[in-house]
Amino acid sequence: MTTEMDLSQRAPARPQHPNSWVFYDGRFSRYHDVHLGVMTHALHYGTACFEGIRAYWNERRGQLRILHPIAHFERLRNSGRILRMDLAYSTEELIEITTELCQRNEYRSDVYIRPLLFKSAEQIGVTLYGLPDSFLIYTAPMGNYVEIEGIRCKVASWRRIPDIALPARSKATANYLNSALAKSEAVEDGYDEALVLTLDGHVSEGSAENVFLYRNGAFITPQVSDDILEGVTRGLVIKLIQEELGLPVIERSVDRTELYSCEELLLCGTGAQISPVIEVDRRQVGDGKVGPRSRRLQELYFNAVRGDNPKYESWSIPVA
Ligand code: PMP
Repeated sequence: MTTEMDLSQRAPARPQHPNSWVFYDGRFSRYHDVHLGVMTHALHYGTACFEGIRAYWNERRGQLRILHPIAHFERLRNSGRILRMDLAYSTEELIEITTELCQRNEYRSDVYIRPLLFKSAEQIGVTLYGLPDSFLIYTAPMGNYVEIEGIRCKVASWRRIPDIALPARSKATANYLNSALAKSEAVEDGYDEALVLTLDGHVSEGSAENVFLYRNGAFITPQVSDDILEGVTRGLVIKLIQEELGLPVIERSVDRTELYSCEELLLCGTGAQISPVIEVDRRQVGDGKVGPRSRRLQELYFNAVRGDNPKYESWSIPVA
């Protein structure tokens, strides 16, 4: 028999921001006024793709700035193309919608923006064709997603989904089951984050971050054909390494043991920002402290994304 206690333990998670404005199927609504049917295709079959965008609050200017929305919405459109989903808005319109959402929600802190494109048919049957697409954006205040002062990683026993099985370069929701398996294993084994290898044993990425190693005077990052998500932050970090540190970046396959013999290692992503790694599989990275280049990249990155470096002001768009 189900007791009252059992029921309360099984109560659904409450939305963190029930009264915030969201954008859903063409209009702005309150979070708690949007209702999705229990048969929604995406919920059952993982037929959805999404983006994760950050907006940074600049205290000095009293201004919220959305980081690289064009790159994120273009990646969403490409994810949709791979998954046969149609994003019915131009990138310009999507930026306008996002800006209005941030204005309506009156943020004065860093914000996470989550667009989701999904198959909304309420029907049974696993296909991608002939099904209606829906689109929503919600936003929520967000601090650091992972620790940025040096994390400990484990190479997961789960391998990265190969492009021949699931489209790793798309941000398909289904791909994140792979991430969740790897991250859960790492955290439950006492680490902060997982590093995931390709089927043939090369380093692919973190559970939700791209990877950079510093070895022999150059930064090395797994090439795009090693089943990575082609991260927006990865592109920004490449630029900062080349332009600000004056160091070369090599995109190539990376062996597992290079993780154990590099001088510095870092993860990067919209959520993770720049997160230096100080230990992998119980081996210290370098001297076990955040390395000087990683520290410098963090400083440069945070300055640039907050709109405090005029050289990189074009990286972000102000919410008026
Ligand atoms: N890989 C995966 C699997 C991710 O989920 C993310 C986060 N979106 C990244 C890499 C980094 O991508 P980005 O810099 O565009 O956020």
